[in-house]
Amino acid sequence: MDRTYTKNRKNFSISAKNIEILQASLTAWFKAKGRHHIPWKIRADGELPGSGEILDPYPIWIAEVMLQQTQLGVVLPYWRKWMKVFPSLIELLNSDQQEVLFVWQGLGYYSRARRIHQSANTLYDLIVNKNYLDPKAWPNTLENWMSLPGIGRTTAGSIISSAFDLPTSILDGNIIRVFSRLTATAALPKGKFEFYWSISNQLLDEENPRTFNQALMDLGALICKPRKPICCECPWENLCLAYAENKQSEFPLHSVRKKLPFETIGVGIVFNLEGEILIDQRLDDGPLGGLWEFPGGKQELGESIESTIERELMEELGIQVQVGQELIAFEHAYSHKKLRFVVHICQLISGDPKPLASKEVKWAKAEALNSYPFPSANASMLDALKKYLHSGTFINLS
Ligand code: SF4
Repeated sequence: MDRTYTKNRKNFSISAKNIEILQASLTAWFKAKGRHHIPWKIRADGELPGSGEILDPYPIWIAEVMLQQTQLGVVLPYWRKWMKVFPSLIELLNSDQQEVLFVWQGLGYYSRARRIHQSANTLYDLIVNKNYLDPKAWPNTLENWMSLPGIGRTTAGSIISSAFDLPTSILDGNIIRVFSRLTATAALPKGKFEFYWSISNQLLDEENPRTFNQALMDLGALICKPRKPICCECPWENLCLAYAENKQSEFPLHSVRKKLPFETIGVGIVFNLEGEILIDQRLDDGPLGGLWEFPGGKQELGESIESTIERELMEELGIQVQVGQELIAFEHAYSHKKLRFVVHICQLISGDPKPLASKEVKWAKAEALNSYPFPSANASMLDALKKYLHSGTFINLS
């Protein structure tokens, strides 16, 4: 077998013979060892679709957006829940954003959920005669899918190849890693992936694009793993340059991880005299947009946490509170920062809460809190609040 490729910064040329070998070996491996259980990639009877057979694009669209920045194992229960609540485009069209965020709650990167909701109308208009129950009536071009917010080339390519078995190439983080090792080429700076797109385009099996793209994703997820690739089981072992040079761990090049910034957030669980609890809804265009939370904010240098809560609630809601006992303190890591939440029970002293830095504020009964979508960091606060209310120490502010 010949491992010779033509390579420069912009291009990587694979001979027709090697393309044939790479396609055939990957497809054979996929048939024997691939993930054939992914529910949106199989027919209703549980069988794999035949060549050219069209699958329903709706569940594939939802799954592909959920899979952006999230692994399959995490996505599966959320996707199942979604399909129960919004089994077709029409239920999604008839929903409000709160219902969508509620189903998405815990999956993170909430802008994806908001964009799906925003896109539903546009998509409906793109479907021939608005016949959304007929998979053949759905759009099947990159141009149409990429016109939706948050849908890039790879998500669109994956939807089209998975649903319609049409030849559209894909490139996600796992696939970049495989190509980087196959070609022994360090990952290029973010956003400059034309080198890897050219490989994806060259390798794509135009006769069986759905099978080939799924096989490629499975190879990255199951065999060419980030830390310990299982090269002895890899169908591409004989043509892989990194393997030939025993340099698998050098590709792709990893940037040195920066230490995450750390902040302390003071949070107030504010009760009014009726025993209701104050919650506010985050602005749509910020992180965790549209979700509800207990009010609070960042602790300033030299400030006590009680002062932080008093100041933040005055600045953001225009209310004065008496800060009482600490309910819970815990740390929560996001992809870009680490936060320590210090949560205190508070009593409203004066003022009528106004959404000065949020979309909406509400007094909610404790038993109704479960019907609002909260960010996952708030799950610990809600649990602690439940215990506090059951403990009988309610309105003990000392
Ligand atoms: S041989 Fe190893 S490093 Fe190369 S593509 Fe296969 S699993 Fe990845």
